[in-house]
Order: sequence, then C-alpha cells, then structure tokens
Amino acid sequence: MKIQEADAKSLLVAQGLPVPPWEVAHTPAEARAAAARFLAEGPVGGKVVIKAQVLVGGRGKAGGVKLARSADEAEAVARDILALEIKGIPVRKVLVGPAAQIEKEYYLSAVLDRAGRRILLMGSAEGGVEIEQVAAERPDAIVTLGADPYLGLQPFQARELAFRLGLGSHLREFVDIAVGLVRTMRAYDADLVEINPLAIVVEGVPSSAPVDRLLCLDAKVTLDDSALFRHPGLEDLRDPDEEAPADREAREAGLTFIKLDGTIGCMVNGAGLAMTTMDLVKRAGGEPANFLDIGGGARADKVAHAMRLILADPKVNAILVNIFGGITRGDEVARGLIEARSQQTRDVPMVVRIVGTNAAEAAILLREARFVTASTLDEAAAQAVAASRGAAA
Ligand code: GDP
Ligand code: MN
Repeated sequence: MKIQEADAKSLLVAQGLPVPPWEVAHTPAEARAAAARFLAEGPVGGKVVIKAQVLVGGRGKAGGVKLARSADEAEAVARDILALEIKGIPVRKVLVGPAAQIEKEYYLSAVLDRAGRRILLMGSAEGGVEIEQVAAERPDAIVTLGADPYLGLQPFQARELAFRLGLGSHLREFVDIAVGLVRTMRAYDADLVEINPLAIVVEGVPSSAPVDRLLCLDAKVTLDDSALFRHPGLEDLRDPDEEAPADREAREAGLTFIKLDGTIGCMVNGAGLAMTTMDLVKRAGGEPANFLDIGGGARADKVAHAMRLILADPKVNAILVNIFGGITRGDEVARGLIEARSQQTRDVPMVVRIVGTNAAEAAILLREARFVTASTLDEAAAQAVAASRGAAA
C-alpha cells in the first residue's frame, strides 16, 4: 500500500526523524491560511513550499512542487497545483510547509531486499532526481549496504555509509537518520522508506550565524499489504481516491486480483493454482489478463463479483475458469457463474473446468446452462486461447 507524503512524514516523525513541519490543505483558501501561519514564524528565506499530494514520483518536474513568498502567492500557487493532473492523477490536496534553504540534496532509502532476506540501505550524493535515473546513468553513484536481519543496522555501518556519501561533517545526524529509517521500516512492516531529497539545509535566526543540518524534505513509504493486519491503525492511511477502482472492489470483496495486460480473464481458487493456470495459458500461446484468486470456500455471490471484475477490463475477450474444489464447492461456483452470466452485459466466450468437491453436481448445472466445459487444465487453456483468437479475428 502506498501512502501520501504527509502520512509518510507522520511515520518518520513518530520515529524521531527530522522533518520540517507541514499542514495539508484541500483548497486554495486553506493553503493560504496555512502559508500565513508558517510565514508568521519567519522561516529562513521567507518562503513556503506547496506540494501536490499524489501517489506518484516526479511531482517537482510536473509542476507539483512550488515555492511562494506570501500568503497571496501561496493561494495562487495552490490553486494552480490543485488544478493539475500528474501522471493522470488529479491533485486533490497539497502539503504546505516552511520552504527549506537547500545546500545539497542526497538520496537515502531502506528497501526490502527479498533475495538477500535483509533490509538494504541505498544512498547517493546525487539526490533530488529520481533514483532510477541515477541507477541507469551512473550506477557507481549509488552506495548500498545490508542491515543484519537480527542485529539491524549497526551504527558503524551507518558511519561508513555517511563517509562514502561525503557526509562526514554530519555524522551524528546521518547515523540517527539511517538507523531511524531501518527502525521505521521494521516498526510498520514497510517494504520501502525513501527520503529524496535528504538535504543539507541552512537554518538559524537572522541575528546569529547560520547553521546547516540534515532534514528529510520528501518521504515515500510503501507498506507490506500482507502485514497490514498487524497495524490496524495504518489502514486509515489508505487513500481511496487513488486506488484503482478494480483494486478497491477486489479488496472489499475479499478477492486477490492483479490486472495484467493480456486478453484471457482467469478465475481460479488458490494462488498456486492461479499461477499454474497463467503458465498454462502462456504455454498454449495466450496472454492472461489478470491474476485472480477467489480464495477457499468462495460462495456464488463472490464468484459473480469476480466475474464482474474480469469483465470490467475491455481487453478481455475470453475467460478461463479453473476451480479445484476442496473447501470450495464446485456447485456453488457453477451457480455463481450462472448468476454472473445472467447479469452480464458483454458476451465473452468462457471455458469452465471444475474438479474436486461436488464436481458432478457442477457438471450437471453447467450442462443445463449450456456452458463450455473442459476436463483437463491443458484442454481448458487451449480452448480459452482458441476462443480469444477467434474473438480477436
Ligand atoms: P518529487 O519530485 O515528487 O520527488 O518531490 P520532492 O518533494 O522531492 O520535491 C522535488 C524538488 O523540489 C526537490 O528535489 C527540491 O529540489 C525541491 N524542493 C522540495 N522541497 C523544497 C523546499 O522546502 N525548499 C526548496 N528550496 N526546494 C524544495
Ligand atoms: Mn522526491
């Protein structure tokens, strides 16, 4: 689950990381009021920053991050940003905060290294730009370091990282931040905590000498969906406005659904069987349109729901249903399919294979309803691919 910058920053603050203050505004008037409050505190440089809150990167380049020197200007800038669409997503809210005076931008993230079974820290002195670009153009500009799964990130490791990034003069602050990132990752079961830019900023009152320090100016956190049950409070950070409608529907119906690019819709029970089914569709020369696991013990209404999800994808021109009845009863699935077809607005060829619990009852129901059935998975995949080709021709 992706969360907005402002929410990611709340998690960082809760873990003691240095983040400048902010407010979230939904209208230009709210942005104006927030800007006035921050400007009254006399930030160094006398400006506020206004940032689009959308779940995509590269907001700066897209015109979604701007500075303003007055409440009037902040209102106008917020109005512009709230009218933007960034990478297809309409901006519905902005973050307003005191603008930092940046001296240099760095990149620092903690990511889950699945293959290495540990948390990986990635840093670069070329911050501010998207890390994928740095990785592609100057891979040697990225420094990585693995945290021990049991001991976590050791301070000596964080110090080594600081020196390799040229941040030796901010050693203590950097060590706290790096250790804090790993702590944040573990505290919330995140699979990514990214600070870009982590910046050296100038701070201080006009009368005294300026000081520079490290601040987390941007934050991106993604949470492991499978671990969300351990953090009930984090569910509130889900932004329903930005969840794809199909994803939301699937989640609410208790279905595991991942949209893909092919033409053959797949409805299967069990993740392993769903993977196998996709493999066999590919082997038969087709492309699956989705991964869909209806789960164990799915009832007729859930099946009908799954069918609506599959058909909502206009690219789908054939459907393969593969059910292995264990706790899932074949006749229930058959009833769901019959119900779904009676409500269907689009006629798409469908091949059904149901084996296991109550398969005989299912076969009778399907035959009466004139469904096309198959007995083996290879046969079912071949028929679905042929139907898809026929529909495309
Ligand atoms: P992103 O483009 O979506 O990653 O958004 P960021 O929050 O990283 O902002 C993009 C760029 O805007 C940063 O790399 C900075 O150069 C600039 N920026 C962000 N916040 C501030 C700020 O407080 N002060 C100044 N001067 N620039 C900022
Ligand atoms: Mn950024």
